[in-house]
This record gives sequence, structure tokens and C-alpha cells, in this order.
Amino acid sequence: MTVDNNAGRRHRVVIIGSGFGGLFAAKGLKRADVDVTLIAKTTHHLFQPLLYQVATGILSVGEIAPATRIILRKQRNTQVLLGDVVGIDLEKKTVTSKLLDWERVTTYDSLIVAAGAQQSYFGNDHFEAFAPGMKTVDDALELRGRILGAFEAAEVTTSEEERKRRLTFVVVGAGPTGVEVVGQIAELADRTLKGAFRSIDPTHARVILIEAASAVLPPMGPKLGLKAQRRLEKMGVEVKLNTMVTDVDYMGLTVKEDGEEHRIECAVKVWSAGVQASPLGKLIADQSDGTEVDRAGRVVVEPDLTVKGHPNVFVIGDLMSVPGVPGMAQGAIQGAVYATKQIKAELKGAQPADRKPFKYFNKGSMATVSRFSAVCQIGKIEFGGFLAWLAWLGLHLYYLVGSRNRIVAVYSWFITFLGRGRGQLAITERWVFARRALEQSRDQSAQKSIG
Ligand SMILES: Cc1cc2nc3c(=O)[nH]c(=O)nc-3n(C[C@H](O)[C@H](O)[C@H](O)COP(=O)(O)OP(=O)(O)OC[C@H]3O[C@@H](n4cnc5c(N)ncnc54)[C@H](O)[C@@H]3O)c2cc1C
Repeated sequence: MTVDNNAGRRHRVVIIGSGFGGLFAAKGLKRADVDVTLIAKTTHHLFQPLLYQVATGILSVGEIAPATRIILRKQRNTQVLLGDVVGIDLEKKTVTSKLLDWERVTTYDSLIVAAGAQQSYFGNDHFEAFAPGMKTVDDALELRGRILGAFEAAEVTTSEEERKRRLTFVVVGAGPTGVEVVGQIAELADRTLKGAFRSIDPTHARVILIEAASAVLPPMGPKLGLKAQRRLEKMGVEVKLNTMVTDVDYMGLTVKEDGEEHRIECAVKVWSAGVQASPLGKLIADQSDGTEVDRAGRVVVEPDLTVKGHPNVFVIGDLMSVPGVPGMAQGAIQGAVYATKQIKAELKGAQPADRKPFKYFNKGSMATVSRFSAVCQIGKIEFGGFLAWLAWLGLHLYYLVGSRNRIVAVYSWFITFLGRGRGQLAITERWVFARRALEQSRDQSAQKSIG
């Protein structure tokens, strides 16, 4: 075990996570008189809003997931460590992380926890193997393998029933991610793959969006929801509202619609129906007298984004629960800016008691539905169509990290949206079957440790 002692050093800040919260926190401390250690279990900063474009072959992984240590290369006060944080001790002020068989303990004076959230299956974790979510690069590549692999299998099979099953794609959850991915599966089938097969016609693929609530894009209100729904339906997507998924298996899923249960046989299922915060949230809350987690496991933080009794421990981004702050990139970025401001103020002698509460500025939200069509909400202004799509394009380019990535993304969008090509249609056996192999190897090591 490596123990990393803090004695006699500058104020030490440990950041957990390299997503929007973690990366912006590190950048916010660029010129501060502190030593920063950023620990994350992935080597990249992932731009989650464009994961669906990796899953559907528009962008490559590198464009949305640049290496964190390269982004922070010139930031001399910052060290980036790869590691899965398995322990946080608020009393001893240490963070324990693991990489392979190595365990490392890092001490801190201030801690910023930005460990985000994972997909939630609402207690039905066995759904995950059949209906992966879209939270990580692995998820997106696995889904790309499953989506394109379904067309390949449909071309080969001689069973009409199996062909139909392979060409049925179901996305569960009609939030922004569900709408975006379902729209892109439809465009992939209708435009990119058109004419590329001999036994099947990809344009006959059945693409279904399932939502338990009564509207598409519930948080964006009825007007924009209806707009998005109409656009999807025009593209041939079947939108099933007020429909609950009650079971998922290899062959398809069972849904409850109008009080009746029935089956949808389908090979590809994508889950985008809920989130569960990182377990690090509960780990922290359990050590703080009076801090709780909400139903999604997010930490109910104090007005200054810290946990009770520990003014040096900030919880930000998707892991924090603050009324009125959605689980969106802006919430994470603004939380990071706020936390680093407090740390810098204290270096100059300010006291935690002097902190003004965190205030969220809602810059709006948007979702693309298809090429040239998006919906956008900025305050009370709501609009959709081409203008909203241009706004979406500009905003995503602005937040993509790295000028090379921006140029390549624009080029790829030009190819896909003006033409019909997609540059990232490669799939590998390992992406498709890695989940099964990993499960097997975990089972084997569990058996070994029992034996
Ligand atoms: C598919 C998808 C589409 C989205 N679209 C939009 C959108 O259009 N607009 C928008 O504003 N928001 C969107 N969001 C939400 C937005 O991406 C999140 O709100 C934002 O990423 C939250 O940032 P974060 O830093 O809190 O967490 P994340 O970005 O999730 O980062 C979490 C980090 O913590 C690390 N981590 C987790 N656990 C550990 C551990 N135990 N040890 C070490 N490291 C750990 C992870 O590796 C990761 O680096 C989308 C999200 C998804 C999944």
C-alpha cells in the first residue's frame, strides 16, 4: 500500500472524478497555491452528451473522451491518478483508491467528490445484461456492436421470425438520451444502411421508444415533448407512452400497456430510464452526522455543497442533491466553480461560515431529435426545429474539449447530416462479447475466493 503523507506541504486538494465536475474543479485550481490530485477510474474526460453518437457510428471515442492527463498536462500543480476510489475517511481525511492489486491512500485538506451517477434499473439489476445503459465509453461501444450486429444477424438468418426480432430496436426512457439515441437508430437504418444489405431492407427496421410517463421529454414540458414526439413519429419511430417495462430478457421485453402485459420480441434493447448516484455518496453521508442521501443515492448537501460537520468536503455534480439543480453538465460545472472559489477564498483567510450559498443559474436545456431538428428551452423561451438544432450544434462544439476534436466532430457531422455516411461503423467481437467474458471472469474469481 502506498501512503501519501501530507506533512509540511501546500494545501492539498483531492478531486474524485474526471467528468464535468472533476475536470472543471481541477481547472478552477490552475493558478491556486495548492497541490491537486485528481483520481478517477477512467483515464479520460467523457463528454457524455455525445455518447449516443459513438453508439450509432457518427463519432469515434477519442473525439468525446480525450485523456485527462493530456488536458491537464500544463497544469503543474495537478497530478492525475487512475484508480477506483474504494474508501473515503472523513476523520482521517484520506481517500483510498485501487488500481489492479495496488492500493493507494491519498491525504487531503479539501476534498471535492464528483463521482457522478450510473444507470438505474429500479431494483431489477438483471435487466442490465440485456439492456445496457449509456453512461460509459464501454456502454457506447457495446451498444454500437449490438445495433450493427443485429443488422448483420438479420442478413444471415433464414428464419423470418428471428429476422423480425433482430430488426426490432427498443429504447426505454424518453428523456433527452432516449430521444437522441432512438432518433439516431432510425436514421442509421433509414439513411446510412439503406441499400447496403442483400437479404434485408434496413429501412424496414422497427424502432420503438417506450416511456412510463404520459409524454416524451417530460422535464421539457408538453409543448416541446409533443414536438419531439411528432418528429420521431414522422421518422417512423413508434412512441409508446404510459408503458411500463416489467421484464427484460435475451429474447425481448415484457411491457404493461393499458393494464395488459404483452411481449415485444427484440434483439437490441437500450436502457435510458433512470439514474443511481455513485455509492461513494452513501459512503460519505454515513460518516457525517445528519447528512442523508435521496432516493437516487445523491447526497443532500448543505447550501455550500458540503456535508454536515465537514466544511472541507464538497460533493458536486450528479452526486449532489440540490433542489432545482438538474443532473446536467451545467449543474456539475457550476458546482465545481463554486467549490474551487471557496477553497481559494479560504487560502486567503476566509472562513467557511462566511460562505454565500451555492446559486444555480439555469442556462436551459436541449435535445436533438434527428438531423436538423432539436428542441430547446431557455428560461420561458421554447423553440424547436432547425434553429434549435443549430443552437445544439454550437453549444456542443463549445463544450467539446480540444480544437482537434471540434474540427473532427464538425467534419463527421457534415458527412452524416448533409450526406448519409458514418465514419465509425467498425465493430469488434470483443466489444460485443466483453460483458459476458467479464462476468465469467468475475464469477471465477469469486469462486476462487470462496474456495
Ligand atoms: C447519455 C447522456 C447524455 C447526456 N446529455 C446531456 C446533455 O445533453 N446536456 C447536459 O447538460 N447534460 C447531459 N447529460 C448529463 C451530464 O453528462 C452529467 O450531468 C454530467 O456528466 C455530470 O458530471 P459529473 O462530473 O457529476 O459526473 P460524470 O461526468 O458522470 O463523471 C463522474 C466521474 O467520476 C468517476 N468515478 C465514478 N466513480 C468513481 C470511483 N469509485 N473512483 C474513481 N472515479 C470514479 C468516473 O470515472 C467519471 O470520471 C447526459 C448524460 C448522459 C449519460
